[in-house]
Amino acid sequence: MAGYEIDPCEKCEEAMQPYLDRALSDDERLQAEQHLAGCSYCAKRYRFEESLRQFVRKCCAEQMPPELKLKLASLRTPL
Ligand SMILES: [Zn+2]
Repeated sequence: MAGYEIDPCEKCEEAMQPYLDRALSDDERLQAEQHLAGCSYCAKRYRFEESLRQFVRKCCAEQMPPELKLKLASLRTPL
C-alpha cells in the first residue's frame, strides 16, 4: 500500500542526481541519456532540474548574497 504511488521511475531517480552533477562515468552517462530518450517522466524531470540549475548558476554569476549562496549549498545533495 504505502510507497506504491511514488515516482514511476524510482530507480532512475538514483541515476539522475549524479547525472545532473556530472558525476557519472561515460558509460553510466550514456545509459542515463538513453533512458531519458525513452522515458518521458525522467526527460521532463531532467529538463526541469537542468533549467533550475542553469537558473541558479546564472543568478550566482550575477549577484547573490553570501548567506543565500551558503543556504543553497547546504541544500545540495551530498554525493
Ligand atoms: Zn525514467
